[in-house]
Amino acid sequence: MEKLSIQISSGAIGFSLPDLDVPAFNLEDKIPSHLLRKSPLNLPQTSENEVFRHFFKLSQLNYNIDKGIYPLGSCTMKYNPKINEEVARHPKFLNIHPHSLDEFSQGCLAVIYELSELLKEILGMSEISLQPVAGAQGELAGILIISKYHRTKGEKRNIVLVPDSAHGTNPATATLAGLSTIEIKTIETNGILRAKLVKEEINKYGERIAGLMITNPNTLGIFEEEIYEISQILHEIDAQIYMDGANMNALVGNLKPAKFGIDVMHLNLHKTFSTPHGGGGPGSGAIGVKYHLAKFLPNPRIKKIDNEYKLVYEDEEFSIGRLHSFYGNFSMFVRALVYIRMLSSEGLKFVSQIAVLNANYLRKKLEDIGYRISYNMPTMHEFVLTLKDFKKYNVRALDVAKRILDYGYHSPTIYFPLIVEEAFMIEPTESESKFSLDSYVEVYQKILDEIKENPEILLNAPINTPIGRIDEVKAAKELKVKWQDL
Ligand SMILES: *Cc1c(COP(=O)(O)O)cnc(C)c1O
Repeated sequence: MEKLSIQISSGAIGFSLPDLDVPAFNLEDKIPSHLLRKSPLNLPQTSENEVFRHFFKLSQLNYNIDKGIYPLGSCTMKYNPKINEEVARHPKFLNIHPHSLDEFSQGCLAVIYELSELLKEILGMSEISLQPVAGAQGELAGILIISKYHRTKGEKRNIVLVPDSAHGTNPATATLAGLSTIEIKTIETNGILRAKLVKEEINKYGERIAGLMITNPNTLGIFEEEIYEISQILHEIDAQIYMDGANMNALVGNLKPAKFGIDVMHLNLHKTFSTPHGGGGPGSGAIGVKYHLAKFLPNPRIKKIDNEYKLVYEDEEFSIGRLHSFYGNFSMFVRALVYIRMLSSEGLKFVSQIAVLNANYLRKKLEDIGYRISYNMPTMHEFVLTLKDFKKYNVRALDVAKRILDYGYHSPTIYFPLIVEEAFMIEPTESESKFSLDSYVEVYQKILDEIKENPEILLNAPINTPIGRIDEVKAAKELKVKWQDL
């Protein structure tokens, strides 16, 4: 295990500066002495070589997409072309001051404008805001927009319908926006939201329903095939349809959500449009709306006026306001724009088709060797297995996930969605080759043999990783964020 930098401190100095040729700045003159530090800071002292090796070794301990397949369901951990990084790091983008005036930022504003135009086309929506900085913040923006839409008409609607196959952020968002969530159970309809279930809720709650929040494809990877009919019956009572579009990797270039009745939705640029993520950011939860909701979008908005790009404040009495300082996470817009431009519409269409093909190939292979799908329906870019059959060997999804790490691969998302017992949610993405998928299946085959012959080995996994199995409950409950020399 690599030591901490303070433990490898050798007293060496990693820099050399020329002697001062001006009088030294005397802190004592400027700062009252009782505020000055008395003892030295005791920072690690290493040579450049030592510190570089230290951080390089640390970087190798972590798993990442450049090491191998990273099939975390719902997260879309796909390959992000390196050229996107290079363009995002261009000094002209990187060094611009966020307060510089519009007239000196035309290139950056053009990126925002161009990307918005392309996303409009991809979603079939009338307007886009790139301001939200996470998928969940995009959801919040969308629900605030729906809420304000009803309030502007003088209506107080406070109910949001959410199927149980939606992402957990959906009901959380509705609650945060001050609305009440009614969960619709889909276990008996094979994980699909059926129009008849929505009709039952309309009969119960009528025009108290502000809207529906639906993840499509849902968290089981299943396309909501009645979405158009559902949107029609909800529109009859003027309820609005919010789509969580974090799973757009399955649809981009093939289907425009506006066409199947969606009024407002978000995209995760950090999933579908190639920004590396994991580790907490940055994110971009761009939202798209149909024309009747456009005036409620956050401010400021990007406009092209007489061939000049401007950030403008409009419809102030309708807008839900500002969601973030400046205008979202700009460098992600650069990556997304490069990604879309490089692939073009044909390329994007192909990406989602391969994402779906890869997921179905992997699903079939795993089913063939004896893993069980949770809901036996056609799936799109991801699928969810249930590992409940292994309970008779005293093995749980967690144990299998930990064992996968021993074979040098990343595990899928586990215990999500909640409507699947011992869930194993796999999303290979379009980035993986047949060879890579076959190697992944081989690991599952080996583990299956182990479960039958020697399940003990799984209970102690992982043993080949820098850190063995951690006590996750203890780690969460007894958080120690300060290093202590033991
Ligand atoms: C990732 C994800 C979200 C949340 O996005 P964040 O950027 O993490 O806030 C919402 N819904 C679905 C389906 C997702 O996969």
